[in-house]
Amino acid sequence: MRFSKSFIKTYKEVPKDAETVSHKLMLRASMIKQLTRGVYTYLPLGLRVLQKIEKITREEMNRIGAQEVLMPVLQPADLWKESKRWFSYGPELMRLNDRNARDFVLGPTHEEVITDIFRNTVTSYKELPLNIYQIQNKFRDEKRPRFGLMRGREFIMKDAYSFHIGQKSLDEEYNNVKGAYYKIFERCGLNFRAVEADTGSIGGSESHEFMVLASSGEDDILYSNASDYAANVEKATSIIEIKEDNSEELEKELKETPDCKTIEEVSSYLNVPQEKTVKALLLKEILESGENKYFIAMIRGDLDINEVKVKNLVNATLELEMMNESDVENLGLKAGYISGLKDIESIKNGKVKVIADETVIKLKNFVAGANIEGYHYINTNVSDLHIDYVGDIRTARAGDKSPRDEGTLEIARGIEVGHIFKLGKKYSEALGAKVLNDKGIANEVLMGCYGIGISRVSAAAIEQNNDDFGIIWPKSIAPYLVDLILVNSKDEVAFEVSEKLYKEMLSNDIEVIYDDRDEKAGFKFKDADLIGFPLKVIVGKGAKDGIVEIKHRDGSKNLEVKIEDVISYIKEFERS
Ligand code: ATP
Ligand code: MG
Repeated sequence: MRFSKSFIKTYKEVPKDAETVSHKLMLRASMIKQLTRGVYTYLPLGLRVLQKIEKITREEMNRIGAQEVLMPVLQPADLWKESKRWFSYGPELMRLNDRNARDFVLGPTHEEVITDIFRNTVTSYKELPLNIYQIQNKFRDEKRPRFGLMRGREFIMKDAYSFHIGQKSLDEEYNNVKGAYYKIFERCGLNFRAVEADTGSIGGSESHEFMVLASSGEDDILYSNASDYAANVEKATSIIEIKEDNSEELEKELKETPDCKTIEEVSSYLNVPQEKTVKALLLKEILESGENKYFIAMIRGDLDINEVKVKNLVNATLELEMMNESDVENLGLKAGYISGLKDIESIKNGKVKVIADETVIKLKNFVAGANIEGYHYINTNVSDLHIDYVGDIRTARAGDKSPRDEGTLEIARGIEVGHIFKLGKKYSEALGAKVLNDKGIANEVLMGCYGIGISRVSAAAIEQNNDDFGIIWPKSIAPYLVDLILVNSKDEVAFEVSEKLYKEMLSNDIEVIYDDRDEKAGFKFKDADLIGFPLKVIVGKGAKDGIVEIKHRDGSKNLEVKIEDVISYIKEFERS
């Protein structure tokens, strides 16, 4: 491509509403253009990057025997009603009507469609296992679309779905895909980690997220400094010290705690360590019917509640929300002074369910809210509470012991670029996807699903590879490998040499952009660094002596090369 003819328009100014490095650089380097919030055009350079990521993804998916299809974006709501996700997916689902007022959705993911295809196509176990994938635009009406391609409302995903008879077959395929994902992200030049992830309401047995390590990431990852344990903080567990308390249980006693809303205030006012207090969170689940289920979740005062764990413990389908003021009032609760006391009316009559973290039931003679404005009890005991659920609802923290007691947990931020999941029978049961087994009996199949955020990968790669001047593309996904720069277009010798080199590069299948523009050298160099081509081949004054300069964008090398050696140098670099 000749730069002079290209549809590339770079910008010096940092765009106003772009917060992350990748978003800023993608806009400045002419990779993407926003159409509306969370919706982007991929400009020629950005598209080339995506196509490379897609190519790597296809190669590795094909290698494990997955087969590519392309399913419709537009999907009838009936399928989503069958799976019940029409009701549970919430406002992220883009819904629309056709001219006959029938409900449709724009696919955020394709479990329903693929399962429908499967149930109408596959009849026998002999046709399994199967792994079907596609690369396609997905639609999600995200609450906070942001960071450019990182969280779009329309974005590109590779989604794969596998079908099995028997857990063993699903387990094997899950591992195959996991292996393929390692290769894909390695080949994309990313520094990443696979972490254990929450399986959520689907309740599948296993799930991993692939996290690109970057400070701008939206997820917290906890990992052991002494083993391979790594998990999303939503899922992570840890070991903390819980001392056995053999003291005698005392009678609870009401104490005034004026204006003490936080556990820190209560603990310092009563001069009791936070470890001898209990704090509570007031949560609700809004059901399909529009009714609410209410929960009081309690944990030892010095620890924090993990709402994802609470959601799983109570088997909620939708994310839990905080109770609002009127909920609290209707239930006769006093916000800031709550605990699961058994004599509270709405607890007694079961309107509110009480959840206790494992740490709570080990406590004795602790401080807990009295459900009276401005009061707590001291010397509360478990026997004073009504507890419906006990479980691990604690947020693991950096510094805690790793769950298998191998080392200490450390924390890092990650960008989720891939997610693999053992779905089990969720969709095959809901949609009746069965095959005959070897005894002629119809059985629901087991399924796995596997996503990669193709467009997000391009942004994540920039988050990890940039400097003050611009992007430093890993060579495997760079829009062009080489930027051939003619320093001075009036220099006839240099002009001849660069024209010749350009043609030679093309005939050698080298991906080259040729900066033949009638611009100052500095201007061209700035663009080259901003866009981040791995190599600059600079044709300047040395051309008359048969010499050009080659600069590596990552700063590793900067050398003079004889013109006749340029092609082999680039070929060598490409292979290395
Ligand atoms: P997140 O927690 O970031 O919203 P998710 O759990 O909703 O992700 P999945 O449903 O597992 O994501 O989708 C598969 C992959 O698609 C994700 O791993 C991510 O890389 C990508 N992805 C999801 N949502 C978006 C989005 N709004 N914009 C760009 N990529 C996305
Ligand atoms: Mg999401």
